[in-house]
Amino acid sequence: MEEEQGQRRKHVVLVPCPYQGHITPMLQLGTILYSKGFSITVVHTDFNSPNPSNHPKFSFQSIPDGLADDDIYSGNIIAIIMHLNANCGAPFHKCLVQMMKQQMPADEIVCIIYDELMYFAESAANQLKLRSIILRTNSAATQISRIALLQLKEDGSIPLQDPSNLADPVPRLQPLRFKDLPFSQFGLPENFLQLIPKIYNVRTSKAVIWNTMNCIEQSSLSQLQQQCNIPIFPIGPLHKFAPSSPGSLLKEDTSCISWLNNQAPNSVLYVSLGSIVSMDKKELKEMAWGLYNSKQPFLWVLRPSSTSASSGIELLPEGFEEAVGENGCVVKWAPQKDVLSHIAVGGFWSHCGWNSTLESICEGVPMICRPGFGDQRVSARYVSHVWRIGLQLENDLEKGEVEKAVKQLMVEKEGQDMRQRAKNLKEDVELCIKESGSSSSSLSKFLEFLNLF
Ligand code: UDP
Repeated sequence: MEEEQGQRRKHVVLVPCPYQGHITPMLQLGTILYSKGFSITVVHTDFNSPNPSNHPKFSFQSIPDGLADDDIYSGNIIAIIMHLNANCGAPFHKCLVQMMKQQMPADEIVCIIYDELMYFAESAANQLKLRSIILRTNSAATQISRIALLQLKEDGSIPLQDPSNLADPVPRLQPLRFKDLPFSQFGLPENFLQLIPKIYNVRTSKAVIWNTMNCIEQSSLSQLQQQCNIPIFPIGPLHKFAPSSPGSLLKEDTSCISWLNNQAPNSVLYVSLGSIVSMDKKELKEMAWGLYNSKQPFLWVLRPSSTSASSGIELLPEGFEEAVGENGCVVKWAPQKDVLSHIAVGGFWSHCGWNSTLESICEGVPMICRPGFGDQRVSARYVSHVWRIGLQLENDLEKGEVEKAVKQLMVEKEGQDMRQRAKNLKEDVELCIKESGSSSSSLSKFLEFLNLF
């Protein structure tokens, strides 16, 4: 294994789930552990493989994932996760055996850290008597509501017999309504229900690392810790502990920063729906004209697969770009963290993926929430009804509603109050990551725990 200044380093093997929102926090964790003296190997699938040149200090090992093109193009994430778990166990085991053959006592593998969705890694580690640790990249509230889904199914409360009850509160899950539950984009299929316990169970793993923090999720975290017989380490937001960890699978278009430099403070609405959520052509059109009619400057990420067709930008309505002119900037992929920390950005229209939500909270940017599926619905509800730093756009997208929501957030009193609360929350997070803050202390405890191995 790697030697640095004559020192061999203890070795940690990371197994990320091959989606942007999962790869990024895993690489950030790797960056933190590297800075604390560990050597890092990332074992990844061929599908959505990370770019090794972004992390020259890490080793990267690819394992065959056995995914067929049809699986990938189906976009059925639940099915893909299940295929990966069925296909990757044996190659991962082989890969670990190879690594163990080459190791010396001073650089032996101290543990395998795997994304909760890549549970095949635990069984391979266990067979080889290696310790494993789980990384959870969603909110603690999402985990609680996933467990509740199983119970609600058992009670016969879901699927709902009467869809008009979707706005009813879920018993004991305040402030979530039935429509905020983390259903997958494919509803509540059997395989999603089967996946939930696999994600939740810790099996033989020794600890859980959570990309969240006490200042926003204390009660959910303590509830989960009571149900869990291994330690939970909430050490989020990981990106603040590893600010220099690049992880984008797509090329970032930095030209939008020059455009932002010419905008007034707090005036720009940043619009991005993350790496998976898609929109149809009609929604895109309503959104486009609603943004235009609001007269607020906007920076809009339309990644090539943001819509069901091949290219987002090409699907913008005719005449839109000319009408908007310099008041808007459209890119395929942005350096999001730099955008959110830019002084010109005053609001974030987001799908409420957990990374985006954390990144927005960390910069004190209030949000317009338009969740797609799964955990995004839970986070949107927390943003609007627990932290009260955003508003949720429900119902079908319609240009008048879009215009109204944008003005509400960006110029009206309600939005100013949300901005103030977002700034307060940002300060709370800053305290969490300070030396004696809860996330910093949790990180120190985790490192002590790791050093006992
Ligand atoms: N992101 C980015 N540029 C973009 C859009 C998104 O760098 O133009 C990053 C964003 O900062 C976040 C990740 O992609 O870290 C998306 O993760 P998230 O959990 O928010 O959503 P997902 O893509 O998993 O739905």
